[in-house]
Amino acid sequence: MADRAQQSQQAQRDFIANVSHDLKTPLTSIQGYSQALLDGTAAGAAVQQRAALIISQEAQRLTYLVEEVIDLARLENGGLHLHLEPVDANELGAELVDSSLPRYEASGVTLTWRPAPEPVPLLADAARLRRALTNLLDNALEHTPSPGEVTLTVEATELGAQVQFTITDTGAGIPAEEIGRIWERFYRVDRARTERRGSGLGLAIVKEIGEAHGGEAGVTSVVGQGSRFWLKLPAKVENGAKVGVADHTR
Ligand code: ADP
Repeated sequence: MADRAQQSQQAQRDFIANVSHDLKTPLTSIQGYSQALLDGTAAGAAVQQRAALIISQEAQRLTYLVEEVIDLARLENGGLHLHLEPVDANELGAELVDSSLPRYEASGVTLTWRPAPEPVPLLADAARLRRALTNLLDNALEHTPSPGEVTLTVEATELGAQVQFTITDTGAGIPAEEIGRIWERFYRVDRARTERRGSGLGLAIVKEIGEAHGGEAGVTSVVGQGSRFWLKLPAKVENGAKVGVADHTR
């Protein structure tokens, strides 16, 4: 019991340390470049343009990070009400493939789409589900070198009672000693690669969104061969699942 309380306190301390660090880096940059514009150190149109661009990009990064932290906090406190609506998993998958394709094509990674043979109805918060699956598709792309392949599969399982989305990649894979930790907030396997934009929140959000729907997320992976992430949701949300009442006012 005491152990669990200690672990939770430690997790909270780590969380604050990580958020502070991730907020501070772009803020320092915004401060530096705006000061240079104000005091005239950034002279000439080209230099000023570049400073303004960096300020804008860093501000965007901050907005994204803050949105992720707020979303995750809401999900974890059960304060985020899902806006449940009928969704067809095949349609949602096709839409995601369409929106992800340009990023895949630019990276030289093939995105293969395998819909279920029949429509796959489910009751879900379409925006949150899109967010979770986009996180998985973006991760797969990021960890798959060209010429690689990522496949999105939709299938109805358990006689249509469950819907499973699977994202398989032929990328780097995840070491066995790390795989248990990747769902933790802010956990990144390769922290040293500072050029990466990842906040380490993506998979924590996927997990929370899955659980909020009464479903679950999981992964299997082989280093050097690739990873297989899945998100499984009940087609109809059961009584007692951690969800809010459908609210179509949004
Ligand atoms: P990040 O913002 O770093 O992508 P995530 O929570 O989405 O954060 O992922 C946590 C870590 O899990 C990543 O840093 C990465 O090392 C690992 N990971 C996630 N998806 C994959 C994948 N498809 N292949 C290999 N490693 C992955």
